Amino acid sequence: MQTTFRIPEAHERFSPHEMALHQFDHIAYLLGLDGEIADILRHPQRELTVNFPVRLDDGSVRVFTGYRVHHNIARGPAKGGLRYAPDLNLDEVRMLAMLMTWKCALVGLPFGGAKGGVACDPAALSPNELERLTRRFTTEMSVLLSPERDIPAPDVNTNSQVMAWLMDTYSMHAGHSVPAVVTGKPLSIGGSLGRAGATGRGVVIVIEEVLRDAGRPLEGMSVAVQGFGNVGSVVASLLHQAKANVVAVADIYGGLYNSRGITVPHLIRYVEETGSVRGFPGAEPLTNGELLELPVDVLIPAARERQLTVENAARVRARIIAEAANDPTTPEADHILRDSGALIIPDILCNAGGVTASYFEWVQDLQALFWDEDEVNKRLKRVLSGALRAVRDAQAQYGCDMRTAAHIVGVSRVAEAIKTRGIYP
Ligand code: NAD
Repeated sequence: MQTTFRIPEAHERFSPHEMALHQFDHIAYLLGLDGEIADILRHPQRELTVNFPVRLDDGSVRVFTGYRVHHNIARGPAKGGLRYAPDLNLDEVRMLAMLMTWKCALVGLPFGGAKGGVACDPAALSPNELERLTRRFTTEMSVLLSPERDIPAPDVNTNSQVMAWLMDTYSMHAGHSVPAVVTGKPLSIGGSLGRAGATGRGVVIVIEEVLRDAGRPLEGMSVAVQGFGNVGSVVASLLHQAKANVVAVADIYGGLYNSRGITVPHLIRYVEETGSVRGFPGAEPLTNGELLELPVDVLIPAARERQLTVENAARVRARIIAEAANDPTTPEADHILRDSGALIIPDILCNAGGVTASYFEWVQDLQALFWDEDEVNKRLKRVLSGALRAVRDAQAQYGCDMRTAAHIVGVSRVAEAIKTRGIYP
């Protein structure tokens, strides 16, 4: 079970989950983890695949496939987002669920790791079709859901409205309102102040603290942000407020570059009106590939997984890479970037603000007692600073990079929980 880590050859074509297992094996080796515990953690605990029909607006019926994977729930209920994407598959969901287990443990939340979603193109569905798909998917998944068992949240292409439909569907079956079954909800039905922007806020908190450790101010730093959705737009906006120089942003339709800096509040209004950053006046067009290779101080992938790969890593010139997206860097790219001296702030630390604020929302729903935004933001900073300190301590102990250290902290806490609970029966 315990192996030394090696970079897979290109021809070996490992899947995202197999890559995550390689990474885990390396961490297990460094920790000297008990082989039986490692074997438990290599396997997802539960996987649900559902194929379900949805009636489309033209009266026809189409069958969609959805997934919900619980990687490990030794530390508490399963927590993780739901994403709607045409290329979603079980292998990717397994990998993302495993990352959630380590992330929740790293930030000290009493949750296990989960992920799920539906293979669909939400842009090709009407709002009514999306609602019917969400309600049927919720019903299909309801064997797993409950505030004590599994609490979904938004992820790529899902939002607070989708979470509201989920909460309403679950509540209709229960016969009473159950706000704590999902987080990332609108405020009107038990959402938390500060949750909507918490992932982006957390990314900026972590970047600021890492820069402070290095004795460098955020003000004046040049930054490129890939992705301008829930996470990327908030990151760009908060960095702009902190007087960093956001020189480039991109979404799936294309990117923008202005060496003097993009006026992010204007861009946000432009995107609200047009649906994309493309064509924003006062900046030159740029491809996504070009954005990743700009000579900026900080590069923030905030779009999708596997954007920094063996193909482009050697051309990446940013010296700090803050992984707002989940799994944006392949293991090969990770090695190339680290060898070139780049500092990578790993996803499970960098974007953990989202799940942390989700935890706050769940706690508030269970208590039916709500906090003001200042309270949420203060607690968020405290939790993320604590996680960063734990990563720094592990780096000092193991003499390793931040990603390895973050995984060491996460994996060791989950292993400890399994050991303490024992094997049933
Ligand atoms: P989103 O759907 O709101 O936004 C995604 C953005 O990325 C959009 O602007 C989209 O146009 C862009 N995009 C998609 N594919 C792209 C591509 N190939 N090239 C360039 N841009 C592309 O999603 P989000 O919630 O902002 O999530 C972004 C990332 O952050 C994901 O990896 C997600 O798993 C991760 N994340 C999100 C949260 C959260 O709270 N929303 C929490 C933790 C991690």
